[in-house]
Amino acid sequence: MQLKLLWELQKIDLTIAALQKTIEEAPLKSGVEEASQNLESLKNDQSQQTESLKVDRKALKELEMKIQKIVDDRKDLNDGLYSGKTTSAKELEQMQRKMDILAEEKKKYEDRLLVLMESVEEQEGALNALNDQINEIERLLKDKEEKLEQELSLYRSELSKMDNIRAGKTEGIEQKYLDRYTMLSEKYKGQALALVENDICGGCRVFISSAQRGHLYNPGALVYCENCGRLLIKSDETD
Ligand SMILES: [Zn+2]
Repeated sequence: MQLKLLWELQKIDLTIAALQKTIEEAPLKSGVEEASQNLESLKNDQSQQTESLKVDRKALKELEMKIQKIVDDRKDLNDGLYSGKTTSAKELEQMQRKMDILAEEKKKYEDRLLVLMESVEEQEGALNALNDQINEIERLLKDKEEKLEQELSLYRSELSKMDNIRAGKTEGIEQKYLDRYTMLSEKYKGQALALVENDICGGCRVFISSAQRGHLYNPGALVYCENCGRLLIKSDETD
């Protein structure tokens, strides 16, 4: 009777262990972890790209201001040239030269401005696409997390049911049997007891000796497999 209870306890414990494993592996299998990591890496990209765009926008503004300054300076020079106030040929020539230098500078800045504008535009496009991608993954992740939570709550309620059943089962088992079972269970990864069918140990698939077979019919005797060490139980005892 005690052996039968131990056998039933083992079945309960194996179910509990399987449930615990399922709960442990559920987040990985649901893809939540993968999606979280993916999201994190995309958000890193996002902040880097945002920062780089900020820098380039600032540079763009500075270039625009430089160009505007040149335009203003040239206008002043131009006004000076044609105001008639300056009549010295040398001075006029210098002013004209300065106008030319400023025009060259302006051209240089404008070329840089064009390149930078293109780059900023490209970055804005890429960042927009990235933002869309992040939104989409966040939506998917939320979905997955909700499903995972539903799944986990089912498993957890199943587990708590099994824990109650286990508690009820152990009430009928003597402490010394429970201790022995616990010790063997740890040693054999939950398979403390092995079923004997056709004189074969269900734990290691080795024939049991005739002496052991005799002991098995002795009620209350604890018989261990000589090969693997598991506690043996006859199949008709498990019914
Ligand atoms: Zn065995």
